[in-house]
Amino acid sequence: MIRSIHEQLKNGEVTATGLAEAYLSRIAERDGELGAYLTVLGEQALASARIVDGKIARGEDIGLLEGIPCAIKDNMCRTGTRTTAGSKILDGYIAPYDATAVSRLLEAGSVVLGKTNLDEFAMGSSTESSAYRQTRNPIDPERVPGGSSGGSAAAVAADLAVFALGSDTGGSIRQPASFCGVVGLKPTYGRVSRYGLIAMASSLDQIGPFAKSVEDAAIVLSEIYGYDPADVTTAESDGKRFEDFLSGDIRGLRIGIPKEYLSEDLDPRVRSVFETAVERFRSLGAEVREISLPHAKYALPVYYIIMPSEVSSNLARFDGIRYGMSVDDGSDRFKESDSLLETYLDSRAYGFGPEVKRRVMLGTYALSAGYYDAYYKKAQRVRSLIRRDFSEAFRDVDLVFSPTSPEPAFRFGAKGDDPLKMYLSDVYTVTANLAGIPAVSFPMGTVTEDGKELPLGGQLMAKWFDEETMLRAADAYERASAGER
Ligand code: GLN
Repeated sequence: MIRSIHEQLKNGEVTATGLAEAYLSRIAERDGELGAYLTVLGEQALASARIVDGKIARGEDIGLLEGIPCAIKDNMCRTGTRTTAGSKILDGYIAPYDATAVSRLLEAGSVVLGKTNLDEFAMGSSTESSAYRQTRNPIDPERVPGGSSGGSAAAVAADLAVFALGSDTGGSIRQPASFCGVVGLKPTYGRVSRYGLIAMASSLDQIGPFAKSVEDAAIVLSEIYGYDPADVTTAESDGKRFEDFLSGDIRGLRIGIPKEYLSEDLDPRVRSVFETAVERFRSLGAEVREISLPHAKYALPVYYIIMPSEVSSNLARFDGIRYGMSVDDGSDRFKESDSLLETYLDSRAYGFGPEVKRRVMLGTYALSAGYYDAYYKKAQRVRSLIRRDFSEAFRDVDLVFSPTSPEPAFRFGAKGDDPLKMYLSDVYTVTANLAGIPAVSFPMGTVTEDGKELPLGGQLMAKWFDEETMLRAADAYERASAGER
């Protein structure tokens, strides 16, 4: 899609301004119901588009992302605009700087249409915990778009942006991509700078793209990755343009299926779509074999100890003084506090929603004296074993393949009252974050529920910094599916 729009821009079939206007009017028309955006940046978008049109009019060359409309998850900063992370506690916060991933897109000439909805502080799998609005799944408005980057996934699926950025701490790009039928890519830990991303769990967070095709996701990654002095975890750029690796040829590629992932209780419909997908990879010439990730069964409990521990520490900065809302705002909405401690406590009690509070408490508990060794330290040890499982698996195979999520999009409220049920949605995705490896979700097939065809994503995981092999396989699959339709 990006390439064809790029060609149309170059040969004058469309203008960047015309394109931005078309997307903005679609947003105005549809987003009231869909709820993908929290903030629409109409003026800014048109101003960036005019710059691109000026360049084209002067006969200057334009880059692949120039004039391409995109959306940004609202936990990434954009100078001078509201950045809420889906939380009431950041109500009124105006970001004073750009996240590096955002500034790279702006430098590449992409047109930012707005900021998208998410679960509060990216905690959740349905976008239902946003303090601001509900986002509907464009395929079936009775269902959730997944989460936490539900707004970004829905925006791309409903053509309210050509691509979008999301963040993925335990699956928040891949699972909503699966639910909305688009491509979602979580790069290797350290690929993309998190400077300006409101931190959830710093040893797990990564930024990555949502797009309509594997090629588009590859193009966006090529623009945003690389070393950033403002994020010490970033790796030096290896100069790759990921879209150059999409040859369509995966003959001889070794793909491993973890036997631990295909347990008895896997939904038979998901299993059958997955088995068909395995056959497709085989027919494309890949060598598919069973592998073992012996510690995979501990991934979810390990994640739900390490993640809240880091959450409790990262979220300590929201104190009702430095950012966003405060109970001491001089309004008569709140009781005036008698002490600084009361300001902290009351602002946090009011500003954070129940899921965030639950995780801050879980994390504080896991880190507290007397429990630290039994929970946090032990979880870190098991995390090393999970990482080692992958190092060993990648001696025998190039990629690991699984479903992205154990189920298709569920209905609103289906898991709302039961946090544990919600956490189980993350069973296939958290391992890649714990190991730090890249993973991509791509449309694998569909299941029919209540007369609706619901998309299901397949997940490919690759070795550290080997996004290109994983994208090549997902792209080959996409081409084969397109041929079938
Ligand atoms: N659903 C997972 C959670 O609730 C993942 C969140 C994320 O990746 N940001 O923690």
